Amino acid sequence: MLRNTIATLTCPPRNRVTLLFGGLLGVELLWQIYKRTVNVKNEKSKPIDEVLFFSEESSGCRLHAHSQIPCDRSSCSIRNLRKLLGCIESAEETLCICIYMVTCDDIAKAILRVFSRGVNVKIIADYGMSDNVACDKKIRDFRSKGIRVRIKKSAYLMHHKFAIIDGKILLTGSTNWTKQALYGNWDNVIITNHEAIVAPFVKEFDRMWLQLTKDED
Ligand SMILES: [Zn+2]
Repeated sequence: MLRNTIATLTCPPRNRVTLLFGGLLGVELLWQIYKRTVNVKNEKSKPIDEVLFFSEESSGCRLHAHSQIPCDRSSCSIRNLRKLLGCIESAEETLCICIYMVTCDDIAKAILRVFSRGVNVKIIADYGMSDNVACDKKIRDFRSKGIRVRIKKSAYLMHHKFAIIDGKILLTGSTNWTKQALYGNWDNVIITNHEAIVAPFVKEFDRMWLQLTKDED
């Protein structure tokens, strides 16, 4: 800094202008970076309260699934699915999934993409899923890529359907991550970042994760 100041005072006028211009550019760049960082933080701290509904009307959305463009149905599967994928793919550090059944290719691919970015992904599933060929394949795919999957083996179902993104955003509801659920079932998903709701889910996920031994990975 001192050296730059001395250089500015001792160098010819044209060079002074160049130095001054360079300095202003640097200040502007730092200001833009600061504003962007603050905006991202503010965006993430905004309250999130959203409810998605799926219904028998959603079955009609199979016809425009290929386009990935939402229709005007209030329970449009494509709009809802894009919302779910957006949440899942927003994970930067952790993605904790506790799901009874997952067969949806789009969601499975999103999970794999998140994992490939270095996000710590953990999945808890139910033993009954391994009886379902499509579910079993997804679990094998996840594990083959290195994702840790722990499975509850007991007479009682692990019937949850929730995911926690970065310990801050919760997706929960009745919806399994299957095409049947997304395109025809009457189901719901709540998306929230309310700490009073998210924190107990984080605690319960951690409890279940520790309870399921590594032997069941
Ligand atoms: Zn639709």
